[in-house]
Amino acid sequence: MAQRVFILLMICWAALNTAAAQRLPTKEPKAQKKVLLLMGTRFELAAVSRDEQKAWEAIDAGIKEIQRIEALISEWQNTSQTSEINRNAGIKPVVIDQELYDLISRSNRISEMTGGAFDISFASIDNVWKYDGSMKKEPSPEQVAASVSKINYKNIILNSQDRSVYLKEPGMKIGFGAIGKGYAANRARDVMREMGIQGGVVNAAGDLVTWGKQADGQSWYVGIADPAEKDKVFSWLTADNTAVVTSGNYEKYAEINGKRYSHIIDPRTGYPASGLKSVTIVCPNGELADALATAVSVLGKDEGLYLINQLKGVACLLITDADEVITSERMNLHYYQNKKKHAAPATSAVH
Ligand code: ADP
Ligand code: MG
Repeated sequence: MAQRVFILLMICWAALNTAAAQRLPTKEPKAQKKVLLLMGTRFELAAVSRDEQKAWEAIDAGIKEIQRIEALISEWQNTSQTSEINRNAGIKPVVIDQELYDLISRSNRISEMTGGAFDISFASIDNVWKYDGSMKKEPSPEQVAASVSKINYKNIILNSQDRSVYLKEPGMKIGFGAIGKGYAANRARDVMREMGIQGGVVNAAGDLVTWGKQADGQSWYVGIADPAEKDKVFSWLTADNTAVVTSGNYEKYAEINGKRYSHIIDPRTGYPASGLKSVTIVCPNGELADALATAVSVLGKDEGLYLINQLKGVACLLITDADEVITSERMNLHYYQNKKKHAAPATSAVH
């Protein structure tokens, strides 16, 4: 499940409904927006268009696309192709759709790139870390090591000849919890843009992609919450035609004796990622941003920054456990004072 109120997305809904819209109701672009539960997450889809009906049609098409993707990739729905792959772990290869095949190959490439910090075979984890408050002490090192023994992306065998995938070890499982929302957001954006929608946002609980401009022609802005005061924005990112994705340990974590344990786990050790309260990745691709946010949470500050600084077109903002804010070389922050006028209209908090 996704993150906490860490990113505040600036959408000038108030402005839409007042001055500009009333002056030229038929000519001015307007934004329509819908919030609903998809993939077990709060999704928000916004479409800017002069044609209100077209905006709604596009939002509906975006929703259908997300539902289609969920049915294909979900490891929770036993009719999905992913479930079919998981049922046949250690038994036989399964022929799948090109779309899922490609998603798995891209996931494996990200695993290579991150030295296994991100790994879709994470789904086989034996959950020794409990997030329901029931855990009173840390599991033993043996339990922890055993919990991740089936995780290894190198045992996901792809065969492009017959478009099949085979999980080599019995008990292996794949799942897209750390990349699927980003992929779905990318696809919903593509569908809406192809329908002629000039600008919009698809926001999956803080994993968001934008295109075009807001209805008033301004850029989209994403506010980064102050770690010390979570409802306050301390800086803004211009977020045109980009993805902004945050992973963090605010919302879903386990606590033992006052210590927090993240739901993001290092597949190489079985221990929860630590050191970073949150990781925000900015790049044009929502899927890559989603996977990298998870990977950098695992890699930690130094290795994470090193990785991001190597990647063209990717930037990050990290908040450490000590509330230190660190940005990669290419992160372009705008300070609150400069963007105050955008803060006046309704600021919608992204949960
Ligand atoms: P969120 O869904 O909260 O935005 P992430 O995108 O980081 O956060 O995904 C976290 C989810 O991904 C976890 O709940 C878990 O199912 C899965 N996961 C945790 N650690 C890893 C990992 N190292 N590699 C791949 N998937 C992971
Ligand atoms: Mg992720």
